[in-house]
Parts: sequence; C-alpha cells; structure tokens
Amino acid sequence: MALETERTTTGWAARDASGILSPYTYSLRNTGPEDVYVKVLCCGVCHSDIHQIKNDLGMSNYPMVPGHEVVGEVVEVGSTVTKFKVGDTVGVGVLVGCCRNCRPCKADIEQYCNKKIWSYNDVYTDGKPTQGGFAGAMVVDQKFVVKIPEGMAPEQAAPLLCAGLTVYSPLSHFGLTQRGLRGGILGIGGVGHMGVKIAKAMGHHVTVISSSEKKREEAMEHLGADEYVVSSDSSRMQEAADSLDYIIDTVPVFHPLEPYLSLLKLDGKLILMGVINTPLQFLTPVVMLGRKSITGSFIGSMKETEEMLEFCKEKGLSSMIEVVKMDYVNKALERLEKNDVRYRFVVDVAGSKLDQ
Ligand SMILES: [Zn+2]
Ligand SMILES: [Zn+2]
Repeated sequence: MALETERTTTGWAARDASGILSPYTYSLRNTGPEDVYVKVLCCGVCHSDIHQIKNDLGMSNYPMVPGHEVVGEVVEVGSTVTKFKVGDTVGVGVLVGCCRNCRPCKADIEQYCNKKIWSYNDVYTDGKPTQGGFAGAMVVDQKFVVKIPEGMAPEQAAPLLCAGLTVYSPLSHFGLTQRGLRGGILGIGGVGHMGVKIAKAMGHHVTVISSSEKKREEAMEHLGADEYVVSSDSSRMQEAADSLDYIIDTVPVFHPLEPYLSLLKLDGKLILMGVINTPLQFLTPVVMLGRKSITGSFIGSMKETEEMLEFCKEKGLSSMIEVVKMDYVNKALERLEKNDVRYRFVVDVAGSKLDQ
C-alpha cells in the first residue's frame, strides 16, 4: 500500500514583525469537492500586505505568506466544480471563505460577512492557517475564484483583484457609474491610480487632489486625469468648491475632512478607503448644508469582481505596474512603503525560483 504523501508548496513568508520574507514550504489541503487547485502565475503587492507582515494591527500570525491579488492557472478541480476547468486563467482576491448564512452572505456581499476568511493570516475551516499568493500554489473554494477574461494579461489582471475592485465596488453600489459625473481622487497610490483609470473609463470628469505638485504631470499625462488641484492652494480649492459628485479618499493617514467635503456638490459623497486608526473630525454644518455623506467601503463582492473584470476588459483598461521576481519582493515592499512605485508591483511568481 502506497503511503499518501502530503502535497506541499513553497512560498515566501514573513517569520516575525520585521516583515522580511523568505522561502517557506508548507502543506496544501487536498482538492475538496468545491475546491480549485491553482498554480500561481503572478501576484500584486498591496499596501495592506505591509501592515500584515509587520503586525501593524497586532493580529499577525507567523509564518505568514502574504499576497491577495493572485492570478493563476487551474491545475485540478473538485468533483462538483463546474465553473472552472483545468487550464483556465483565474483570480483570487482578499477573501477565501464566508459563512454563507448571514444577511450579507445571502445578499452576495460576502465581504461584509462577520465570519469571512481572509486569503492569508487567517484560519481556514479545516483549522489550518490560510496562506496567500506569493507561493507556488493555492487551494481555494470555487466561490472565491473568478475567471480572468480571455485576452487579459495575468499581470494586468492582478492589481484589479484588490485595488481595482476597491474603487469599482463603491462607484457601482452608490450609483456613481453614469457618464458625465465629476469625481475626485484623493491620493495617488495603488488604489488612487486605479481610481483615476476606472473613473475615466466610466466617462467621468476626474480631478486629482494631492498635497503637492509632484504628481501633476503623471496624473494629467499618464493617468488621464482632467484636473489637478493641490490641497494647500486655497484659491484653487475655493474655485473647485461645490463641483464634485464624489471623492474617493485613499489617504491612509490622519487628515482633515472639511477641505474635501467642501469640494462636494449637493448630495455628494466622500468615500473613505484608507485605514486610519486615529479619530477624524469635521464640523456638522459642512455635511448638513449640502446633504453630503461620509461613507466607507471595503473591497467588493465576488459578483462585483466578475463585473469589474468584464468592465476593464471591455474598456481596455490597463494598470501601471512594475513586474519583479520573487527575490526582489523585500526590496519591493521597502519601496512600496516609501511610495516609490508607479503604481503597483506585481511579482512574476511562475517565473521565479521560489526555494532560494
Ligand atoms: Zn489589497
Ligand atoms: Zn456570512
């Protein structure tokens, strides 16, 4: 009788809060009836990977293989999987599980499930730690796998699975998709750059609001923004007052909200998506006189992921990326922390040596 050998994969894991990644081999569960076994092709580097590997939120468990903008190829499917077949190019994002019974789950907005399971730094239903996409392979429940549209390059698709979805979901949910709207993007990093691209693809007039002149040329000429306003330029800020239907605020550090709220039109929405662990303040008349909303949004659903990928495919939307090999990942994380990337690193996992 042959002994059943455990299936393993090698990824790059953080071992402690220094956040330095190095090769780590671990076991993968067998492909269950609902599972898809995915060979990872590439994986985007998201700013939240840094918070996780460095234990900034105090909830990190090690060894931890990060990565939640995963594009791969289907190698094996479970007995009841019909949506995918061997050879398909697929994506996996921020989540790999949910309870399926709560109100958000029943409404297909499983990202708001209180029992959601994160792609990494979480515990799966079998009691094993989840590990992310900076690895040779992942086994993922088919509900949390999406098809990458035909003709879309894997490295182009990767940043869409977190950054792209994060901006697409609130625009879709709040009915902000029609042509001709005027949008503002506050902060030009991985998410902000995608915000400009997606808003432009929707036919919006896009104003980038930034703290300095530094990114003017980039925003206007490369990303296609229509206007660029420096937030410290009070006369330009005054001119722009009352002009925007929404602002996507990606700034992840404390900042006053009033200057931005005053740029919104009647019923305008300030959509927060930077994780800020300091209380923000604002004066109520700024929202009352104009019935403005301050809201937030968290990634998007699997259904929205499919819609968003189709939308990006149809519009020929591309992300600005820098493709690197796995042995560069620590340097990439260091550069990302300093905002020294235009605008997303994508690790070419399949083209990298993972065990050294
Ligand atoms: Zn992310
Ligand atoms: Zn649920």
